[in-house]
Amino acid sequence: MFNDNKLIILGSTGSIGKSTLEVIKHNKDSFEVICLTADSSSVALAEQINLFKPKYAYLNNFLLIDDLKSRITHNQTIVITDINQLHDILKSDIYNTLVSAMSGSTGLLLTFLALQSNKKVLLANKESLVMAGDLFSKYRKQIIPIDSEHNAIFQVIGNLNCEEISKITLTASGGPFRAYPRSKFEQITVEMALKHPNWSMGRKITIDSATMMNKCLEIIEAYYLFNLKSDQIDVLVHPESIIHSIVNYKDGSSLCQFSEPNMQIPISYALGYPNRINSGVGSFDLSSIENLNFSKVDHDKFPSINYAYKALDGSGNSCLVINAANELAVNAFLERQISFLSIFSIIEDSFSITLNSMITSIEEILDADIMYRQKINQIIIKYLIN
Ligand code: MG
Repeated sequence: MFNDNKLIILGSTGSIGKSTLEVIKHNKDSFEVICLTADSSSVALAEQINLFKPKYAYLNNFLLIDDLKSRITHNQTIVITDINQLHDILKSDIYNTLVSAMSGSTGLLLTFLALQSNKKVLLANKESLVMAGDLFSKYRKQIIPIDSEHNAIFQVIGNLNCEEISKITLTASGGPFRAYPRSKFEQITVEMALKHPNWSMGRKITIDSATMMNKCLEIIEAYYLFNLKSDQIDVLVHPESIIHSIVNYKDGSSLCQFSEPNMQIPISYALGYPNRINSGVGSFDLSSIENLNFSKVDHDKFPSINYAYKALDGSGNSCLVINAANELAVNAFLERQISFLSIFSIIEDSFSITLNSMITSIEEILDADIMYRQKINQIIIKYLIN
């Protein structure tokens, strides 16, 4: 029997979506997949539909709808083609848990609809929290973070009063360029930046790890998730990615969560919470590793960490602006239109964009995001290669 765990997975063909379905395979009787969505991976989505038999499926790229339908053998799945239908499903009572695993800003409205409809949201899409932190923090109790660092903190904090915490420390692998000389950053290619040493992830987050903008976004994510002050959030480079974050308490004790660097572990914790379920991954064997290394972030190489504090200490809209600037700059880099170093320059320049006054609704955030992106595109023009 299903344990009333009726799931919608946004971004089911991405790295987090696939890992989520892998955990569900290990706990088949506990979860029912209601709806799967993907951007354009029609082949992978069809395979998932045939295996998990959801009531609904949504593919964003309508040019591939016929291809998707031709691959589906489970004919009881309704393939929806209108985003408004997906909105209605997210507002309905046919599910109780959303796994928000889309990449980038596209997840914002969809995730918000689930929160507004009183659903549990397992959040991997950190960009939506960065864009709409004040709004999302009103729904904090409905959110369980999947992001490995934040999930680690969530596992440690439990129900303890946050006033007992002096600081949290997000660990960072340092990405592929941790030990690469700053003098050679100008030569970094797309291929080099896409090779992450520890995690297998989508293209956008892999570039974010290479610039350490991922950790910048994660500082902002932690600020809103755990209701902390910005100076209570620190970052420590830990290349092995075994300790996923640390909570420092006022009495001098520090607690951490550690495991294999495998996203099935934080996902299974979020899916099973408050219970623990089979993630499909074994315990980490401490005797299998000789050393765990830790070091401070090199801010000259990775100015990105400081963007988080600058944005959090500025107006709330600064987080929205730097998220948009990063997303557009990463796209331009992946399209080989700008250099790796220009990603930093574009984000730095974007801080100068005149900010609107208070933004309070999701509609205002989406409108402001469009306006900021137009201005950021003007900045990007200055950095185009040739
Ligand atoms: Mg993370």
